[in-house]
Amino acid sequence: MSTKKKPAVTKKVESPVVAPKKSRRKYEPPQLLKGMKDILPEEQSYRMAILRKLEDIAISYGYQRIDTPILEQASLFQRSIGEHTDVVEKEMYNFEDKSGDQVALRPEFTASIARAYIEHGMQNRTQPVKLYTVGPLFRHDRPQAGRYRQFWQLDLEVIGEGQPVIDAELISIGYFLFKDLGLDAMVNINSIGDEQCRPQYIQHLQEYFRARRKNLCDNCKLRLSKNTLRLLDCKEPACQEIAQDAPQIIDHLCAPCRDHFVKVLELLDETQIPYTLNPKIVRGLDYYSRTAWEFFPVMQGEEQMQSQAALAGGGRYDALLQKLGATQPVPASGFAAGIERLILAMKAKNIMLPSLYVPDVYLAQLGASAQKRSLRLMEQLRQAGFKVWGNLVKESLSAQLKVANKLGVSFTLILGQKELLDGTIIVRDMDSNSQEIVDIKKIEKELAKRLEKAPVSSIPKTVGAYDAIAANIDETAIIPEVVTPEIVQPGQKTLPIVE
Ligand code: AMP
Repeated sequence: MSTKKKPAVTKKVESPVVAPKKSRRKYEPPQLLKGMKDILPEEQSYRMAILRKLEDIAISYGYQRIDTPILEQASLFQRSIGEHTDVVEKEMYNFEDKSGDQVALRPEFTASIARAYIEHGMQNRTQPVKLYTVGPLFRHDRPQAGRYRQFWQLDLEVIGEGQPVIDAELISIGYFLFKDLGLDAMVNINSIGDEQCRPQYIQHLQEYFRARRKNLCDNCKLRLSKNTLRLLDCKEPACQEIAQDAPQIIDHLCAPCRDHFVKVLELLDETQIPYTLNPKIVRGLDYYSRTAWEFFPVMQGEEQMQSQAALAGGGRYDALLQKLGATQPVPASGFAAGIERLILAMKAKNIMLPSLYVPDVYLAQLGASAQKRSLRLMEQLRQAGFKVWGNLVKESLSAQLKVANKLGVSFTLILGQKELLDGTIIVRDMDSNSQEIVDIKKIEKELAKRLEKAPVSSIPKTVGAYDAIAANIDETAIIPEVVTPEIVQPGQKTLPIVE
């Protein structure tokens, strides 16, 4: 037997010509723009809770709602925020519109509200004018967790008063608003002086950083002459190390600014609001003066890892209104909180909210005649104030009960041929799965009685209020019977979140 191996016959295998895969799609589906976010139904309960708490607190402190347009003259922001700020230089969405006007999607609220104050002669109203608003803003920033190109803020502004108590009140509104949402926040506070003392301080700062210029990041090298204060809050580790020993403005405040700042701190002590003095809080925008603050979530361990970004920021802007054309000094102060950041912080703390979309009752029907009758019955029950969901398209009873279960509804009404003939309806308790036949004429009374024991029903009322807020309809946004979804703390029993 020969041990010689037969030479391997190597067949040349023709590599198959792979035809490019044909997409069966005629058109590629459109996608979200980078940095944008859809706000899906699951998230609405968080937004709803935040908006309702904001409304409650704003109204109780005497603030009135204002809504300004999303689109403004680009020059409004260039003049107020400042040409050499990141927001204006790098992040603002500005373009020429069809009339050849230079316009911008608003990157913040303060400038628009200051414009509206002047334009509508609000200096003739009782001062100070206290305003609040909510809405989307746009910044072409680098997207990352909690940072979007379209994001929402809630914002409060007090225009026409320079007293320290205004700053303290704004800070306490933020503090208690976050507390009501289940969040502990720490105020980081600083004073950045005014036109009297800040220029001298900036000179000291420039001397300090110029001596260390070669170790600064490229961004900070540019900021050195244009926006020197921002060197203090650069996130680059090398710059942070240098900034550590930089002169602090607190040592360079003029007497009126120091006095103002001390009073703000005394008032915070009085109201027992915890704060940290932080010389790095300089805010990025040109219009700020004196008090500047940011809120950070106080979290432990893993929670902290998930959320280190500021929840809110604000400050005094005593010179802005004159810069925008007010004929006399109009001191002002305000702050804004990022709604997506608040939601992230709430989720990081495992704060669960009941779904907004739990109806009072689900109506299941069987058969063509029952289907017809159901449509009328649903309207009748809705007129009587119940939230009724149901699938009027023919489906098996078990499929309909499955949907009712998934919705977390307490009761399902079942209407079939037999009930239709008898003038009755079945009330099914979804927790116990027990059923009872009830006279259809008495169904409203029966439901009212049963739902009183299952108060989930009050929650969906908030949906309408949210819609009104989203549509910027002031009057209807304040619906007295609206019930804010209860914030459920970790460990507490929660209602189902509907997917
Ligand atoms: P600012 O107007 O920059 O002082 O920001 C105030 C608050 O708005 C911040 O503390 C954040 O909570 C939020 N915020 C600012 N920029 C963004 C962004 N790009 N995406 C999401 N939230 C933001």
